[in-house]
Amino acid sequence: MPQIAAYDSKIEGNVIFTQLDAAMNWMRKNSLWPMPMGLACCAIELMATAASRFDIARFGSEVMRFSPRQCDVMIVAGTVTYKMALAVKRIWEQMPEPKWCIAMGACASSGGMYRSYAVLQGIDQLIPVDVYVSGCPPRPEALLDGLIRLQKKIEGESSFLNQKPKLIHELMPEIEERTPPRPSIRGGVTGGTPSPRSLV
Ligand code: SF4
Repeated sequence: MPQIAAYDSKIEGNVIFTQLDAAMNWMRKNSLWPMPMGLACCAIELMATAASRFDIARFGSEVMRFSPRQCDVMIVAGTVTYKMALAVKRIWEQMPEPKWCIAMGACASSGGMYRSYAVLQGIDQLIPVDVYVSGCPPRPEALLDGLIRLQKKIEGESSFLNQKPKLIHELMPEIEERTPPRPSIRGGVTGGTPSPRSLV
């Protein structure tokens, strides 16, 4: 009589058990498609990051799209003037969830040296920032470091809750209350200038 095998040993090693969150986060963090929001000199370093010497493709983020609907990480690189700020916010809102933001350089993070009536004192006054990269300008390595930090942050996120925050709020408000707000890597920046929210 033939022996009945408990399982097919041929597939051993080809099957992985994991959690849904871990699998989704793994896919997301290794395929972050940037929305290059180049507004000033920092954008040159952003371009260098994508070029052959620094090769952002090593981190799965070489697919820079100029269509917000195909992006999931906005890299704000440069000085955000009030004139430009609302356009940045509109593009951010056109990006689908889940999405993240990197503030690249002193200007995007805090207004930098432009303590002027014309410059937004940090893009985090308009949109939530996940990672701040310091420098004026930051070197490409610094941006890559910021990208790696963002990947680490995504690893620990709850995919389902982050994907449909509005739906979760409607269906299970008590779960959302228990979910801590998204912390930034460096913390908030306070500019001290009038908030542009009144413009929105
Ligand atoms: S941080 Fe420095 S390099 Fe970057 S946009 Fe501002 S002034 Fe230019």
